[in-house]
Amino acid sequence: MFYKNIMVAGIGVLGSQIAFQIAFKGFQVSVYDINDEALDSGKKRILVLMDRYQEDLGVTKEEINAAFQRITFSSNLSKAVSEADLVIEAVSEVVNIKTKFYSELSKVAPKKTIFLTNSSMLLPSRFAEVTGRPEKFLAMHFANEIWINNTAEIMKHPGTDMKVFNDVITFAKAIGMVALPLYKEQPGYILNSLLGPFLEGAMLLWLNEVADPQTIDKAWMKATGSPLGPFAILDIIGITTSYNIELAKASDTGEQQFKKLANLLKTELIDKGKLGKDTGEGFYKYPNPNYMNSSFLEG
Ligand code: NAD
Repeated sequence: MFYKNIMVAGIGVLGSQIAFQIAFKGFQVSVYDINDEALDSGKKRILVLMDRYQEDLGVTKEEINAAFQRITFSSNLSKAVSEADLVIEAVSEVVNIKTKFYSELSKVAPKKTIFLTNSSMLLPSRFAEVTGRPEKFLAMHFANEIWINNTAEIMKHPGTDMKVFNDVITFAKAIGMVALPLYKEQPGYILNSLLGPFLEGAMLLWLNEVADPQTIDKAWMKATGSPLGPFAILDIIGITTSYNIELAKASDTGEQQFKKLANLLKTELIDKGKLGKDTGEGFYKYPNPNYMNSSFLEG
């Protein structure tokens, strides 16, 4: 593999998963974050992940410890990036923070280093110039819990070199991801471009009192053979996320139905503490939601 040393910037929710997965696959990983406090909480996140790898993937303690040994931590950017063939940026989803980060990184990174952004919402062309190397810059978007949900959506911007794009696809496979190439910039990549309208369509059926959530899920599951309906998926994502999305959409478009939908999510779920699977209840009650009963799809 042409990339050997990988720097991960930002050791939050996703950065910690990316850093550990890459180390687990045998690469040297240098982690960078703004200060020792951020690095310490990142290390704690990695320790939790180490247990999850053993539980979910059945790997040994030795393999997990060896992976941890391949990670170094620093809050000194020029030191952290000095050996890097590739940088994966997973810093906070705030335009100014990312812009400042790339402008500092471009000054100290070796010329050969490729930059990847894990941003969920911000298109790479927004930062291409400030990276100082637009041809070596693109997006690689991971899903939360990457050791199980192992997709990497790899998206170029108009200035990305095709060789770099193809090399990153090879790298994604080498770190255990299913590589999904996107040849044009697309807000929401593939997955959220499909999932967003799907989930909203289901919620609008509910808002307009066409059918109740369980009937809607039943229709989807029975007709397509899918193990989850839209409301079960909403519970996994967390109700607050959908609430925030609908609220933002209401303010962007001025359309009343999105405001009504946000209100419905608030009064029916959020105000009652039903925030989704993580809190034990959302549209369904956990750990044994009734859509998992064999009788759910009968009659
Ligand atoms: P987070 O808030 O958990 O972590 C962000 C980290 O960035 C923190 O450790 C913070 O200290 C660090 N940071 C802030 N400024 C920095 C700087 N100048 N230099 C280096 N580090 C800095 O956020 P997250 O949820 O891990 O999201 C990070 C990125 O990953 C975002 O772009 C987000 O869109 C993307 N993403 C998140 C998810 C998810 O489910 N959370 C999924 C896919 C992609």
